[in-house]
Amino acid sequence: MRKPIIVGNWKMNKTCAETIEFIDAIENVVSENDAATYGVGAPFTALKDACAHAKNLIVAAENCHYKDNGAYTGEVSVPMLQELGVTHVIIGHSERRQMFNENDEELNLKAKRLFDAGMTPIFCIGETEAQYDAGETETVIRTQLANGLKDLCPKCVSKMVIAYEPIWAIGTGKSATKEIAQNCCHIVRDQIRVMYGDEAADAVRVQYGGSVKPENIKEYMACEDIDGALIGGASLKVDSFTAIIDATK
Ligand code: 13P
Repeated sequence: MRKPIIVGNWKMNKTCAETIEFIDAIENVVSENDAATYGVGAPFTALKDACAHAKNLIVAAENCHYKDNGAYTGEVSVPMLQELGVTHVIIGHSERRQMFNENDEELNLKAKRLFDAGMTPIFCIGETEAQYDAGETETVIRTQLANGLKDLCPKCVSKMVIAYEPIWAIGTGKSATKEIAQNCCHIVRDQIRVMYGDEAADAVRVQYGGSVKPENIKEYMACEDIDGALIGGASLKVDSFTAIIDATK
């Protein structure tokens, strides 16, 4: 049985004080007995406070570098994150791919470095609206996974999280139908099956992301190949994130 994982991606939001207030409030509604794992992806500056206040929530960074140190101004390495108690790292978010030119080859190195550290990548993939309209979704998904998750160990892959986020559904309020989301998450799992076999494919957790809200989380979670969600806007307010958690208990 795959344990679902629901993570808020705060993006460039929340100061340290706001982070502490949020985490303390959400810790009241999660427990170690929950059937799902809940967590937040916070900006680098808030990670130390997030880790100090999180007990049952997992704390994710939103990026990392694949080198441990060196002349990479503005970057943050995996050992730096690990020292804080961060266990998960969101890599390859479409905003980083589009605005900061991240590519699958670089993401492959990041995934490898995270596995070496015993950390869990939340590897994001998804097609643009133009690719969706052109019927290229399946090709985009399979190519991003083939390149981004190349040459990893099957055991590592079985423990990771893959977030399928169609770019046209991110921050637009235009969420994918549950049929589209299920079909794409099934393609993700199938590609893992092709690359790493049944054990990894049956264990890897696949999230849907893109305008997930308290009103639609349940229908995604009911889909066979969807094991959680990566949530932007609705993860920023205690009320809406609590409503999402409540809807999945
Ligand atoms: P929204 O939930 O705001 O659409 O953002 C999704 C996302 O980008 C999560 O990583």
